[in-house]
Order: sequence, then structure tokens, then C-alpha cells
Amino acid sequence: MTEDIEKQAPLNIIIAPDPVLKTVAAPIDKVDDDLRKFLDDMLETMYIARGVGLAAPQVGISQRILVMDPARGEADQSPQPMVMINPEIIWRSEELNIFEEGCLSLPDYYVEVERPASVRVKYLDRDGKSQEMLAENFTATVLQHEFDHLNGVLLWDYVSKLKRDMAIKKFTKMKKEFDVL
Ligand SMILES: [Zn+2]
Repeated sequence: MTEDIEKQAPLNIIIAPDPVLKTVAAPIDKVDDDLRKFLDDMLETMYIARGVGLAAPQVGISQRILVMDPARGEADQSPQPMVMINPEIIWRSEELNIFEEGCLSLPDYYVEVERPASVRVKYLDRDGKSQEMLAENFTATVLQHEFDHLNGVLLWDYVSKLKRDMAIKKFTKMKKEFDVL
């Protein structure tokens, strides 16, 4: 594991608040080798940051791409990387789930979010082929969290305006202090 810690992530994760995290991302019109290289870089960055999901806007690229590995949350699971290009949620269950969610763009910030317990998603895979998947439980939550990023929605959009304003203030201050260092 020390190897992981010393390894430099290929992409920089953007910390909120940042305009790119509030922007609705654009669809991808061509899946080519450059894009596949970017997908690999996103996965590597996610694993190094010990995240279970990462969306392209979080590395400053306003395009509809997400990567995830919900199995990463459980220590005994082997890696199961997933990539989704232009994902569309085509069905949401009425049953809801609540998970406490974190975000690589909001370090040490956690929110309990209620979301559909299962969703069906349509997307393009890394070969540009159309695929469909039923995501359930934690996987459904990770997927919806990353999908939110493609629409400029962050965890603090699920709390009251008062709490959101406090969090934005805290993160703005933290980023300013970090810039001074
Ligand atoms: Zn996030």
C-alpha cells in the first residue's frame, strides 16, 4: 500500500467551491484512444485518492464521464472498475435508501442523502458500445452521486441553505489558506 501513497495521481482533483463543479457537463460525441487514456487516468486518480467514484468535472473536465468502483468500499473485495460515458438514468425505484456520503471534492464533509435504492442506467462503455445496468444499494448511491456531478450538483445541495452557506464559507476560507501556503 505504501506504493499507492507515494504514487502521484495523474489528474488533479478540484476542491469545491469551483465553477466547473457547478456546470452541467457536455456529452461526449466520440470514444477514441485519447478518451480511453483519460478514463484510465480517472480510475488511477480515484484509486490513489481512495475514492469509490469520480466524475470528469471533478478533475476540471466538463464532460459526461464517470468512473466508479463501489466494491472498493469493502476491504475484502477485489477491484471492479466501471466507466460510464454519457450515462442516463432511465429508471428509479420508489424504494429509497439513506447513506452517509462523502466526496473527493469536499474533503471531510459528510451528508446523509436519501436516494432511490435502485436505478437502471444506460451508458456507453470504453469501446463506445451502448450498455445498460441495474445498480442497487450502495452501487446505486455511488452512481447517483457521480451522476449529480455531471449536472453540477454537489452534496451540499442536499442540506438547508443555511448549512450550505456555512459549508461554502468554510471551504472558501480553507482554499484561500491553502493558496497562501
Ligand atoms: Zn463527489
